[in-house]
Amino acid sequence: MTETKTTSTPAAFETTIARAVGAPAPDAPLGALKIDRRTVGPKDIRIDIKFCGICHSDIHFARGEWGKVPYPAVPGHEIAGIVAAVGSEVTRFAPGDRVGVGCMVNSCRECENCQAGDEQYCLAGNTQTYGSTDRDGTVTYGGYSDHVIVDADFVVRIPDGLELDVAAPLLCAGITTYSPLRHWNAGPGKRVAVVGLGGLGHMAVKLAHAMGSDVTVLSQSLRKQKDGLKLGANAYYATSDDATFTELAGRFDLIINTVSAGIDIGRFLTLLKTDGSLVNVGAPPEPLPVPIFPLLLQRRSFAGSAIGSIRETQEMLDFCAKHGIAAEIEVISAAEINEAWERVLASDVRYRFVIDNSTL
Ligand code: NAP
Ligand code: ZN
Ligand code: ZN
Repeated sequence: MTETKTTSTPAAFETTIARAVGAPAPDAPLGALKIDRRTVGPKDIRIDIKFCGICHSDIHFARGEWGKVPYPAVPGHEIAGIVAAVGSEVTRFAPGDRVGVGCMVNSCRECENCQAGDEQYCLAGNTQTYGSTDRDGTVTYGGYSDHVIVDADFVVRIPDGLELDVAAPLLCAGITTYSPLRHWNAGPGKRVAVVGLGGLGHMAVKLAHAMGSDVTVLSQSLRKQKDGLKLGANAYYATSDDATFTELAGRFDLIINTVSAGIDIGRFLTLLKTDGSLVNVGAPPEPLPVPIFPLLLQRRSFAGSAIGSIRETQEMLDFCAKHGIAAEIEVISAAEINEAWERVLASDVRYRFVIDNSTL
């Protein structure tokens, strides 16, 4: 790729230059660029990024679908790498450690939610790994890059049993599905449905299965049925078939909707038991109309969930290592990112693209 852009940071900050791939504008293809990152502060860690997963959120964000973007935008929040340097006050990590960074890199640390260890729901807004203004006033750039500098409190340890490439997607797809499965008590005796078998969906299937739930995939077609059953699903249905909605009416305790676009939520609500919950983790830019009758007639709930806390992310990684779970991936080079994005948009991903950052 040819280099096209250089970013700038306020003059007061000492910076290092990082190689990256990013979007110069909402409608432009991604290209190589150089970005400024702050130097390692006393509480920071410098991570040499080895692999970075491609999340559908990277596309929503960089194309401006969720709101204003500080271009150039460098996405990537499924970061796996090796600690290269630590600040003078960092005691938990040392150079050579295998670490991960997910969707957030800071929070206020003072609000009720931060104090309770739910910094993903920081009441002052958490600092996202990319496209956010950090507490020091600098703009954050994500993992489509050769290195990143992150406060050690927002870094997790990748257990030895997990290879870095297949661990990378756990940092977003893994935690975003693990957290609601735990919160809504997935486990033995519970029937869980997963809508959409993409990056998040395939992790939801693996995790819900490992937790002991009975798992059903609800996909647009039966194209990926064999894979779904291999990932741990007990059943697989096509939502394009009307019979699916009659056959499965009132069946599930929990439905996790991972779809990146709008779907007919009312139809899916009818698949819940009395008191069942449909949790939306998919983040389409448009509002989703929710009909009230399927909710009130069976005291059902419609909810949302965002990523997970740092403590829970570590718990999820340890759970994955213990149960031998990791993402199903296709490793690509930096030159293939634009093509990979098109394949994500076409639901043609099995089941996460992961960038080999040595090719940047
Ligand atoms: P993905 O890999 O593209 O998977 C989405 C899946 O949804 C597709 O594989 C497809 O599954 C299904 N789908 C896509 N378009 C559809 C349509 N028009 N109608 C019905 N089904 C459709 O995306 P992802 O990376 O898993 O992310 C999924 C969504 O979660 C995105 O909106 C992303 O921004 C969001 N997200 C939210 C959080 C959070 O914290 N809540 C975190 C990460 C990502 P089938 O082919 O099986 O039908
Ligand atoms: Zn993500
Ligand atoms: Zn806070």
